[in-house]
Amino acid sequence: MSNQPEHIKTLIIGSGPAGYTAAIYAARADLKPVVYTGMEPGGQLTTTTEVDNFPGYPEGVDGPTMMVQLQQQAERFGTEVRIGMATAVNFSKEIGGLHHVTIDNNKELLAETVIISTGATAKYLGLPSEQRLRGGGVSACAVCDGFFYKGQEVAIVGGGDTAAEEATYLANICKKVTMLVRKDHMRASKAMQHRVTSTPNIDLRYNTEIDEVLGDQVVEGLRMVNNQTGEKEEIAITGLFIAIGHKPNTDIFKGQLDMDDAGYLITEGKSTKTNLPGVFASGDVQDKEYRQAVTAAGTGCMAALDAERYLASVESV
Ligand code: NDP
Repeated sequence: MSNQPEHIKTLIIGSGPAGYTAAIYAARADLKPVVYTGMEPGGQLTTTTEVDNFPGYPEGVDGPTMMVQLQQQAERFGTEVRIGMATAVNFSKEIGGLHHVTIDNNKELLAETVIISTGATAKYLGLPSEQRLRGGGVSACAVCDGFFYKGQEVAIVGGGDTAAEEATYLANICKKVTMLVRKDHMRASKAMQHRVTSTPNIDLRYNTEIDEVLGDQVVEGLRMVNNQTGEKEEIAITGLFIAIGHKPNTDIFKGQLDMDDAGYLITEGKSTKTNLPGVFASGDVQDKEYRQAVTAAGTGCMAALDAERYLASVESV
């Protein structure tokens, strides 16, 4: 472990749209941001192919390209981007206190302010056939990828609000949506369930799970199994959407920052303030509802502005 902790004015943990947008704003405000990228530099968008819904790209852009451009934009104003993972934190509870953050278990930082943009990770079923076909028709984001299956037959797994919302979203675009719910009921709100059951091209299957995703390079079908009867059935589909929840990347903040039952960081009112002074949260790590690149970027901007005001208030004391 290096002996002397490094002093950093603005530390940004995470390099998705929230982290880089926070960096652009922080750098332009002379807050000297340092971004630690985390394990997946660029975040969730680097696993997406085409991004068609981020404003300003009339022809669309592929996810990895967009993230490189966001990084370049942040660097243009002086952001320092470093590969590394925050592995432990010890946040100050005092206004103006320095926040201890350990990187890769061996580098110590002392930050005046910290913006957390560590994102959330989509859960997958873990089937080998599902993992093999990720990016080849298996997706965890209907809003991102649904458009590519326009007029085609797809399936979605899950029975929560996300699955219900995405199933109805897909039903608007696709010819048919087979929805697989593993129990004999859905967890989604009654209103969302009603939307699903009243959409004619959603074929809702209760007590149903995936036995195998079929196809070599791309999804060609699905073998489903009824978990009550053991009966199997194959259907032809070109897209499979997994909507069984997300896990926010907040393990290292447990016990220090307020979070909800699912682990999402709780922010104050419309701001990005966490329960500790000088620690802010932006992007999917504090948003289980919208989870879009553009909303993450929006809260990244807010976090930088909140951090700027915080530092100004500390300096004026
Ligand atoms: P949830 O955790 O609420 O639901 C996950 C769903 O996936 C459940 O039906 C669960 O089944 C199912 N599931 C989990 N693991 C598996 C598995 N291995 N195989 C098959 N099915 C599985 O996650 P959501 O993402 O739907 O929602 C997260 C939160 O965000 C919720 O609080 C939700 O209300 C909220 N939300 C609100 C929205 C809105 O208000 N517009 C929109 C989207 C989300 P089981 O029930 O059997 O455990």
